[in-house]
Amino acid sequence: MSLIHLVYVSTARAELSQPELRRILAASARNNVPVEVTGMLLYSGGCFMQVLEGEEAAVDGVYGRIAADPRHKDVTVLERAPIEARSFPTWTMGFRQLGTGDAADHPSYAPFFAHGFDPRVLGARPGLALDLLREFGANQRD
Ligand code: FAD
Repeated sequence: MSLIHLVYVSTARAELSQPELRRILAASARNNVPVEVTGMLLYSGGCFMQVLEGEEAAVDGVYGRIAADPRHKDVTVLERAPIEARSFPTWTMGFRQLGTGDAADHPSYAPFFAHGFDPRVLGARPGLALDLLREFGANQRD
């Protein structure tokens, strides 16, 4: 038994509608529960950032499907590492769409999400991606 988390960023091929986002979250709930994968998905400026956490084989299986999904491109793994405990143990997949209000409320984080998630910037600052996921996960609202 080996618990890991995997964090990636990607770019939506086209701006996704609310029904399309709901379909992605419905598939996440349907598929993540049986394999005990939990996590958080952020969507901002046409970009995604997601953390998947669970048993290594389960996380890699879910990520393999996600990476092949034609609804997004430039899927870039920022981190894949063992963890002691989950950060989002009760969420099959938390979700937050970030907007201008979030940038105003979080000026120190705004440069890292207001224009999408840049893998070069996030990759150069270990821990920042998870800080963002935890910050907005903790403040999650519908
Ligand atoms: P279905 O949802 O029924 O889909 C069947 C096939 O059609 C899949 O290959 C799917 O990729 C494709 N498809 C569906 N709708 C469209 C569309 N509008 N345009 C093009 N192709 C389409 N899945 C998870 O299980 N867990 C996750 O945490 C998760 N997170 C995701 C995060 C992002 C940013 C994206 C883009 C997708 C995510 N998905 C997630 C969805 C994942 O990529 C697969 O689509 C899904 O796992 C397949 O579920 P399913 O087997 O029930 O098939």
